[in-house]
Order: sequence, then C-alpha cells, then structure tokens
Amino acid sequence: MRTIGILGGGQLGGMLSEALYNYGAKVVFYDPDPLSPSFHKSAFHYQGDWNDAEKLEAFFRQCDLVTYEFENVATDLLNSLIEKTKKPLFPSENVLKITQNRIAEKTFLQKNNLPVCKFIACSNLSELITKAKNFPFPFIIKTAYGGYDGKGQWVIENVTALNKTLSEITTKENTSFIIEEKIDIFSEASCIVARNSQNITVCLPIFDNIHKNQILYQTNLPSQLPITVQQKLQNIAIQAAEKLDVLGLLTTEFFISKVKNDNVKQSIEIDDFQIYINEFAPRPHNSGHISRNSCTISQYDLLARILLDIPINKPELYPGYFCMGNLLGSTWINQKKEKNLNLSCWKDHPNIISVTLYGKESATKQRKMGHFICHAENITDCNKFSENFRKDLNESD
Ligand code: ADP
Ligand code: MG
Repeated sequence: MRTIGILGGGQLGGMLSEALYNYGAKVVFYDPDPLSPSFHKSAFHYQGDWNDAEKLEAFFRQCDLVTYEFENVATDLLNSLIEKTKKPLFPSENVLKITQNRIAEKTFLQKNNLPVCKFIACSNLSELITKAKNFPFPFIIKTAYGGYDGKGQWVIENVTALNKTLSEITTKENTSFIIEEKIDIFSEASCIVARNSQNITVCLPIFDNIHKNQILYQTNLPSQLPITVQQKLQNIAIQAAEKLDVLGLLTTEFFISKVKNDNVKQSIEIDDFQIYINEFAPRPHNSGHISRNSCTISQYDLLARILLDIPINKPELYPGYFCMGNLLGSTWINQKKEKNLNLSCWKDHPNIISVTLYGKESATKQRKMGHFICHAENITDCNKFSENFRKDLNESD
C-alpha cells in the first residue's frame, strides 16, 4: 500500500486524499496550522513549521512520495529533503520553484514564447517605488512570492492610488514585487492538464471563471468561449505542462481580452480575442472542484492516479450546464455560524447537486469555507439557480 504525503492540510489536499483512498492508498498531511481542516481525514499528520527540517524529514521518510496543495514551501529545503530521503516530489521541485514566484513564472513564459502581459520585476521596495512611477496606468502591483486570493496585490488606477499604496506597503527588506499591466479582461478561464510519467497528457475541459474582489466567485462549464479559442487555450496549457516537464497536474489561469492593436504585447491572438497566461498552479485548482460532478474523471482522481501509477484517460463532460460557487466566510458570519453552515434552505433548490463544506474552525469574511455545484439545462438557469441559492443561504457582498 502506497503512502502519499501532502504538504498542506487544506481543502484541496482533503479532496485529493478522498481520491487517493479510493485506490487504497494511505495519506499523511503536513501543515503548520493545528486546526488544518483536513487533518481529521488521515490517520497520520504532522503539525510543524515550513522550516522545521527535522519534522519535514520525518514526514518525507514516512511517505513513498510527496505532493503539495499549495506553492509556498521553500524549495532549497525541499531539495535537501528529497536528496536525503530519496523520496520524490510530484510535480518536481523545479516546477515548484518557477511557479511559486511570479517573476520566475513570467520570465519562464517570456523565454518560452508563451503569452504574457507586460510586466516589470522589482527586487525590493525601493526599486518598486522608482519603477512604478514610470509604468503606464492602470497596473497591478503584486508581491512576487506568497500571495493568494488577491492577497499581496494592489490595483493602481492613477497617481493618487499609487502614492497612497506606496506609502502603505510595509514589507520585509528582501520582498520582491512585480508590476503588471492591468488587462481589460473580457473573460477568465482555466485549463487543468494532467501528465504522467509515461508522458501521457490529458486535459479537462476549459472552465470559465468569474472573480469578485480578486477571489474566484464562480466557475462555469461548458465554457462560453468560441471552440477555436478553447482549443487554443488547451494547446497552450499542454505546451506549458510539457515545457515545465510536469508530472501531476498543471493548472493554467488565462486572461482573455478583446483585441486592441497594441503591437508590443506578447500575447496570442485568435479570432478577435487576445490570450494571456496569468499564472500557473502545479496542483489541484479551486476552479477544478467542478470536475468532481461534471466530468467523467475529476482533477483529484487524475492526480491520485498519476501519484499511484494508475493509467489516466481523457475526461469527458457530462451533458448539461454546471456552475461551481465558492462559499466564503462572510456567509458564515451573516448566519452567525462558526463551523456548520445552516443548509436548511437546500430543500428548495433541487438543482444544487452538491455542497462541500471544508470544516474550517473559524470564518473570516474572505476565507474559502465551502462550495456548491449547480446543474441545469442551460447556462441562464444555472446562473439563476446559483444566485437564488446564495441568497437563501444569506450571502451578501
Ligand atoms: P492569486 O494568486 O490571488 O490567484 P492572481 O494573479 O491570479 O492571484 O490574481 C487574482 C485575480 O485578480 C485574477 O484572477 C484577476 O481577476 C485579477 N487580476 C490579477 N492580475 C490582473 C491583471 N494583470 N489584469 C487584470 N486583472 C488581474
Ligand atoms: Mg490566480
């Protein structure tokens, strides 16, 4: 029986563990947070800091191989652990190193002729201050390392916002940043590619993603983008997975805008759409929750099979329309709930085919606490039923 180690004990790791159990594997989690919501899903877990070399080594030794559900683990330490314990990391430490740092990631895109927006790297705060003053508005400042769900990001529309932000950013001396042009987004999409050690590559259908306040609000399936654009996105995502030599999952987040004849951009044009890669996630992705109910093989199942050396097949889409809606802590706060959301209204929403609650101990406004999946005959109904469910759960902005 194989033992798979998962760095991170959040919901992504939790759902991956369920897929692994389906094949009789054992799972061990590692996370610094004693209240990690997925700890109770495994017989063993390690609670330790990300820089606790001794504890991490014990964790590695207990596993046959290690994967991760988030990117912010120092690769130097991982390298030495892999060397010492001879336990492999899937996807590799090199993939992690590139994708965990926005500067390395965008430089990789540039070097490999993959589509990317205009950006500039700043190795510290004083460099940011100088370079931001010469970057055309509007733009977004992001910390190069460690951000998620819009954390460590500042949208800058004009000089007043720039001055205010620069005076407010307080970070450690060695924090690096990236400045990106703000894309006039027509649509956001993601493509999840699975690649195994026999170099077999399959991808999930394109998902359309809607964000609010830089956090994923809803994923829709099938994508409303023209088929030609969807095929292009899948080709680009597969190309990226191959160039990075990913063994496991690679999610590519895309921005799609309408063509503006700006010839200095490194984007790919198709029909009248312009495609940019926003970022990669070499792991299961929030948008991919939808694949659990809408596809013949989910993102979690694909990854479980790759980790356990079980063949993968091409996932197909079930008929109809699907939405995945994220449920944030604000709904818990509105309901005055700590742990268990009141789902009594669900009886009036037959099109909500599943609700997943992560069991997080405490709710903060923007924290991802659960999600639901809606299934309907057309996209208009799917959106309407999702909105109605949110309303009845007492969600508000
Ligand atoms: P995170 O790691 O938090 O997912 P992202 O870089 O993906 O960070 O940004 C989160 C969201 O913020 C994106 O999905 C998009 O909606 C918005 N965003 C980020 N960068 C840009 C940009 N350059 N132009 C326009 N919108 C952006
Ligand atoms: Mg993102």
